[in-house]
Amino acid sequence: MLKSQLFRLKAKALNHARIKSPWMMHFDATSCNGCGIEIIACLTPKYDIERFGIVEKGNPRHSDILLVTGAVSHKTKDRLKLIYDQMPEPKVVIVIGVCGISKGIYQGCYNIIGPIDKVIPVDIYVPGCPPRPTAIIDGIVKGLDLWKDKLKEEDKRREEYML
Ligand code: SF4
Repeated sequence: MLKSQLFRLKAKALNHARIKSPWMMHFDATSCNGCGIEIIACLTPKYDIERFGIVEKGNPRHSDILLVTGAVSHKTKDRLKLIYDQMPEPKVVIVIGVCGISKGIYQGCYNIIGPIDKVIPVDIYVPGCPPRPTAIIDGIVKGLDLWKDKLKEEDKRREEYML
């Protein structure tokens, strides 16, 4: 009994810490880098996305939010799937730019197999070519709200399971 209570407390404390500081990873499927540059702009002091507690990381195992730019090619398909599978639950996927939403300028290219949601589930779409940093931040803030809801759901599920 005591062991399960300790486990519950530990999980709750961990989720509380995760809410305060979500970690984010960017994966470029196949793009012209325009969207990537706008994401970098979000990290600069001018747009300062860190004010939401977000830290950019290069490791999917430590990331809660995945930003994806570009369309999926034959070469990037398996990597994208692997990165998604390595991220801990709950997670949020945000697609930045029309290439990831509907193939954009890569329509009809022989090496492109489709938009991002053909390979992994997507939660938020941020349109634009490229979207402005303010639009990207808006999408990320919406993603954060969704992610917090998912964390609370997970807490609730755990409580019910342990009862
Ligand atoms: S949406 Fe536009 S800026 Fe972004 S990767 Fe595609 S072509 Fe480049």
